[in-house]
Amino acid sequence: MSQSDQPSVRLRPEIVALPAYKQGKPAQADAFKLSSNENPFEPLPGVVEAVQAETAFNRYPDASALALRERLAAKYGVSSDQVHVGSGSVALLAQLILAAAGPGDEVLYSWRSFEAYPGLVAVAGATSVRVPNRDDFGHDLPEMAAAITDSTRMVIICSPNNPTGTIVTAEEFHAFMAVVPRNLLVILDEAYAEFVTDSEAVSGHPLLTRYPNLVVLRTFSKAYGLAGLRVGYALGPVDILNAARSTAIPLSVTGQASVAAIASLDAEPELLARVRVLVDRRDATWRALLEQGWNIPASQANFLWLPTGAETAEVAETLTSAGLIGRPFAPEGIRVSIGEAEAMANLIRMSADIIESLPAEHDARRKD
Ligand SMILES: *Cc1c(COP(=O)(O)O)cnc(C)c1O
Repeated sequence: MSQSDQPSVRLRPEIVALPAYKQGKPAQADAFKLSSNENPFEPLPGVVEAVQAETAFNRYPDASALALRERLAAKYGVSSDQVHVGSGSVALLAQLILAAAGPGDEVLYSWRSFEAYPGLVAVAGATSVRVPNRDDFGHDLPEMAAAITDSTRMVIICSPNNPTGTIVTAEEFHAFMAVVPRNLLVILDEAYAEFVTDSEAVSGHPLLTRYPNLVVLRTFSKAYGLAGLRVGYALGPVDILNAARSTAIPLSVTGQASVAAIASLDAEPELLARVRVLVDRRDATWRALLEQGWNIPASQANFLWLPTGAETAEVAETLTSAGLIGRPFAPEGIRVSIGEAEAMANLIRMSADIIESLPAEHDARRKD
């Protein structure tokens, strides 16, 4: 029998239809990888040593990562049960979606936002409801509130938003929460919280006592530079986190990831110094691009959004040929991570020519 005569194995059609996971493109030796919002700095002091000392990996790790949870609980002034650690905050998001939404249920989020959301919702068998970003690339919270139905089981708010860098203000957030039913789970995805300098931005953890339906997600992958070790955490009410724990794949957080996270928390002064460097580099790059005539939303994360529209693939190719590997989301734009100083200098040099080459009325051009 030839292959095509065989009956094909029956799989869930909505899973088969999902686009394959696309990782940020790797960079060649002489290129800069600006495609995954990673930290260009090497691990913080003490982290490599802590990982090297964690050698008893013939044993399973502590299933609940208690030492790390206690450390985070002390940092945020909550109990250790109000902290849940996962192998990256994407894993936590998957657990929370599985806990809250199944077939027939809706998960609401702004779009464009984090590329992982649609797939995680589909895997849970639930339905994504996307509310378009505002013209200024931020979340349209009044429209999101209006899109809540009896079937909505979760709302995901991403601030700063990946890939546009925009924030939700505290005022917008409170106005939104005031109209959201208290039995509807709201996730505030704060993967880039450490890079926020705008005092108007919402900050999730102080609001946990106020909103019993709020869970805040944070990660060690971005500011802390532990992307390769996979560790993130959720802060929120115990009953919601317990439901997430029940959907988790057990023992996913390794001992190495836990000790690296604790050592990273110990290196707070160095962390803040690095974040400062990246934030300054971000703001300087943003200003340079604005001066060239680009329309780039002010970013509160460690990346910038180039709204290259229909020219996205072409511009991404131009950047790649200059050794800058960004993350194109055709036909909307390109997300470029804040990387090495040299990479940003190259970007500024390239972008001056690119903006000149775009049509006169292009969205990537500043209108004022
Ligand atoms: C990077 C990112 C995450 C976290 O990724 P992990 O490495 O799984 O912790 C979560 N949310 C957003 C919006 C991100 O950009």
